[in-house]
Amino acid sequence: MPQYTRPIQNVIDGFSSLPGIGSRSAERIAFHLLKLPTDEAMKLARAIDELKTRVTHCRVCSNLAEKGHDEQRPLCDICDDTRRDRSMVCVVEQPKDLLALESTGLWNGLYHVLLGRIAPLDGIDHEDLTLRDLEERLAAGEIAELVLGTNPNLDGDSTSLYIQELIRTSYPSVKVTRLARGLASGTQIEYANRSVLEDAIKGRQTLR
Ligand SMILES: [Zn+2]
Repeated sequence: MPQYTRPIQNVIDGFSSLPGIGSRSAERIAFHLLKLPTDEAMKLARAIDELKTRVTHCRVCSNLAEKGHDEQRPLCDICDDTRRDRSMVCVVEQPKDLLALESTGLWNGLYHVLLGRIAPLDGIDHEDLTLRDLEERLAAGEIAELVLGTNPNLDGDSTSLYIQELIRTSYPSVKVTRLARGLASGTQIEYANRSVLEDAIKGRQTLR
C-alpha cells in the first residue's frame, strides 16, 4: 500500500494508534494540522510535551499533580489545600472519579486514588494499587474516617472488601463508610450525575 511522505505518515500512524481514532480520521487530522498556521499546530505539540513532562502523581494521594520547577514529587491541589479536613479520606479508583466527586462540592476531606482496582481476571492484584501509600497514611494516624468510593461492581466491591479487611485487622480505630448505594450497582462514578453523587456522599453508610 502506498504511503505518504514520512513526516505525514508518522503523524497518521501516531493518531491512529490512539483509542477511538481510525486510520481515516488520523489522515484527516494529519492534513488538518498541515494546513494550520505553524503556531497553532505547535500549541498541540507543546501541550503533549507538557503533559508528559509536567504531570505526575501526588506523592500523598496519587491524584494527578503538576511538577514544580524543583519538585519531582509534588502535592496535588487538594492535599495542598489547608482548608481541607485531613481526618476524612475518600478512596477512589481513578483521578476521574475524584473529579466527579469534587464537582459536587460536598466533600471537604482528602482522597486516596488507588490507580486501579483489584481485578483477578485481568491479573491486577492489591500490589498493583497504591495501597502501600494508603497504609502509610493510616499508620500516620491522622485519618479518622475512610470512605470507600470504589465503583459499585464486582471488581470495585472486592477492592472495597480488601481495604475493609485491612482496616479491621490493622487500623481498628478508623471508621469505615462507603458511598451510599443510590449509586446503582454497575454504575461508574465518573459518569454518575451530580444529584446521585450528592446522595452517595451524604448518605454514606458505616460498614462497622
Ligand atoms: Zn494529593
